[in-house]
Amino acid sequence: MNKGLLIVICGPSGAGKGTVHDAVLACMPQIRRSISVTTRLPREGEVEGVNYYYRTLAQYQQMIAHGEFLETASVFDNYYGTPKAAVMETLASGYDVMFEIDVAGARQIKAKYSESILIFIMTPDFKTLEARLRGRGTESEASLKTRLTGARVELMQYQMFDYIVFNDKIEDTVMRVEAIIHAEKSRIRRNTERIEGILAE
Ligand code: ADP
Ligand code: 5GP
Repeated sequence: MNKGLLIVICGPSGAGKGTVHDAVLACMPQIRRSISVTTRLPREGEVEGVNYYYRTLAQYQQMIAHGEFLETASVFDNYYGTPKAAVMETLASGYDVMFEIDVAGARQIKAKYSESILIFIMTPDFKTLEARLRGRGTESEASLKTRLTGARVELMQYQMFDYIVFNDKIEDTVMRVEAIIHAEKSRIRRNTERIEGILAE
């Protein structure tokens, strides 16, 4: 497999995944974002091909039938999936790829690529999660309740993750995620070719 890292950012809705993801990408140009496909409608301000690729259920099912997804899951009554071809192209071009997906999707990626790095982003507690979700102002009361119930179910699966980062102060969170990525890139097993090259000089 290509040496690019697959970095999976998971965590409950409202934990800060999007915020962290954007900040890390802004500082680490060797990482590219994986843009997911979804059957949910765009929120105000969201742009096709930037936030998601928006597809109808029929189009999505056709993509599943054609084996176009690296992983796919049903989240909050909609489908979300990672298009395989784009990820493979990005890795082949020498970049790392960062995914912002749910726990079911993370499990599928880890099963396919055991070297992928799974990072769980969590607020310091559930009360903060609710406050941040409300503060974001994107959810109806019903959607908020679904997301808060889902949050507990996601956190209960913490054992499958490699890292957890508590998103208290955003600057600290971003620094910790960057530190994890730097440490993972420094692993001996990811640098053997380079070391052998130096030894061969
Ligand atoms: P997710 O992508 O996990 O659903 P967001 O990145 O949209 O979460 O963050 C949820 C809300 O919390 C947003 O309004 C965001 O601006 C805010 N937020 C994110 N991180 C922090 C933080 N460390 N402190 C305070 N507010 C935060
Ligand atoms: P939202 O509708 O708020 O953008 O996303 C809802 C949830 O779907 C989030 O938890 C997000 O991580 C997850 N999600 C987004 N894209 C994907 C994807 O490609 N695959 C999977 N499995 N989950 C995704």
